[in-house]
Order: sequence, then C-alpha cells, then structure tokens
Amino acid sequence: AEWTPETGWAAPTVKQYGPLQLDPATAVLHYAQEIFEGLKAYAHEDGSVWTFRPQANAERFQRSAHRLALPELPVDWFVGSIDALVQADRAWVPTGGETSLYLRPFMFASEAFLGVRPSKHVTYCVIASPAGAYFAGGVKPVNIWLSREYARAGAGGTGAAKCGGNYASSLLPQQIAAEHGCEQVVFLDSEQHTYIEELGGMNLYFVHDDGTIVTPASDSILEGITRDAIGTIAGDLGHTVEERRFGIDEWVDGVSSGRVTEVFACGTAAVVTPVGALRWDDGEVVSSDGEGGKVTMAIREALIDLQYGRTPDTHGWMHRVA
Ligand code: PMP
Repeated sequence: AEWTPETGWAAPTVKQYGPLQLDPATAVLHYAQEIFEGLKAYAHEDGSVWTFRPQANAERFQRSAHRLALPELPVDWFVGSIDALVQADRAWVPTGGETSLYLRPFMFASEAFLGVRPSKHVTYCVIASPAGAYFAGGVKPVNIWLSREYARAGAGGTGAAKCGGNYASSLLPQQIAAEHGCEQVVFLDSEQHTYIEELGGMNLYFVHDDGTIVTPASDSILEGITRDAIGTIAGDLGHTVEERRFGIDEWVDGVSSGRVTEVFACGTAAVVTPVGALRWDDGEVVSSDGEGGKVTMAIREALIDLQYGRTPDTHGWMHRVA
C-alpha cells in the first residue's frame, strides 16, 4: 500500500512476490527512514490459523513510525493487512512440528528526493515466508560475545524502535561475535558500559536460585513481545519476575557463584533459547552446556503450547486469521 500526505493510506492489495523498482534517489536508500515488524502465523491441529498478539506488533509499529517520522498506521488496518495476506492462500502456513508462516511487515520512505526531511511518499509491504522449526534436532544453547567496544543504541536514539538502522549498527559487532564462535552479541548501555541491554535480535532473562527471573530494564532496547509474554507466563508458573537494571558483573558473578542458575534469550524467531557461554576477550562463563535448564524449557514449552493451540489461551493473546 502507498501513502502520501494528500491521499493517506490506499487500501492494501495482495500481489505476486517480485522485485520492487526503485529510483536511485529513493529516500530510504540514503537516510534509512524505514521500520519493520516480525510475527508468525501458526496452524493449529484443527486446521485453523492464528497469529500471536498482532495488536502488540501493530502498537510497536506505531511507536517505531513515530520515532522515524513515518505516518501512523491504524492498529486494525495493520492486523487486517496481515490477515488478508494469510487468507489469500492458507496453504502457505506450514503444518507439523514447530513450523509457521513468518510475516514481515515493513514501511519505508519511497519518495525520490535527496534531502534530509521526512518522505512525502511512503510504501508499506508485508512479506510472507514459510519457516521451519528454529531448532531442527533439539534445542541447543547459543553462545554470546560481549561487545565492549560497540553499542547498539544510545539514550535518546532509535534503540526502542524496530528500524533497519539499528541492525546496520549491530552487523559489525555480530561479525566479530561470529569470529569468536558466538551466534549472538550482547550489548551494554552506551553511557556506563555496565548495564545489559539485549542481544542483536533477542531479549534476555536471568533465572536466579530463588526462582526469581530478571530481565534488563532500559529505554533503548527493543521491547520484545516474547519478553513481555514470558513475564506473564513465568508469573503464572509461580516465578517472581523483575524488570530492572542488570549489570554485566551480575551475569558473570551470578553464573560463577551459582546464584544465576539459567540464562535464556527470547524473541519471535527462536521463541526461547538457552544461553551457553558468555565470552569476552580473555574469559568466559558458561551457564548451560547441554539442553537448556528446567525453568527455561518449562517457559519455552508453555509459550509454544499456547501458540500452537495445545493449551487454553487464558490471556486472550491468540488472534484467529483463518
Ligand atoms: N530485540 C531485538 C533487537 C530484536 O530484533 C528482536 C526481534 N524482533 C527482539 C528483541 C525480540 O522481540 P520479539 O519478541 O517481539 O520478537
């Protein structure tokens, strides 16, 4: 769908997948005025198709749009555009195992204009792509590289928005992480270089020996919808959940002393992933070298059972698409 200040949003249409043709001066190519979302559609055993909290994605998309000076999209319009795409051919939604249809709504500055001001032509698209199980052959812990040199986002910046630019700044640290045998990078706050923010594409939780689970508080992280849901689910399972500043020393010392018993990462793609090693220049601490801890796996199962319709949706999070 296309937007201009004069016409507002035109009704979205479903099209055959194919290349976009862009003028070389298209604003997004130069100034990165772009935002996106990621969510999944799940086939349930009775053949129905559902998304998980799409209104939360719609609201985050609105917050991202505001920060990037892009036009606002009504929540119902956003959710309806995804429903219409999935309904176009429900055979796109794979069945069996932990498979899903990955959905990628995005909006970008499509005006051909070389000047730094908000674009007067904006394009909105949704890509649908079948996704296999994130972990084929059992859940495996991810190793994390501690990025001391680079931050992902600063105070007052775009860290809380889901915009492409944030990911551009995380590519180099991510590459350095890979050179150290790590699948993910963990970022610290950009001012004191002390407090844990998040991974390149996931949020974090720390399970403590008294059953408390802690997720880092910050104004410059992406507020994950999985993270939010886990806060509620962990509460249902009897855990005390805290969102507070959490220092890198608390991770290292906590794992070393046994006070932190499990560390896990969470996001739409992998749902819940046990964290294995945290590595830095001259050291590492390992919180899981096997399958993932009991609390991590119980939370993972509770969330997946809900998404695949195997347990009752007591929080009203599932949205029926087809
Ligand atoms: N942080 C970042 C930087 C991410 O890219 C993602 C994935 N969207 C998350 C956290 C997790 O968010 P969600 O649970 O909404 O997928």
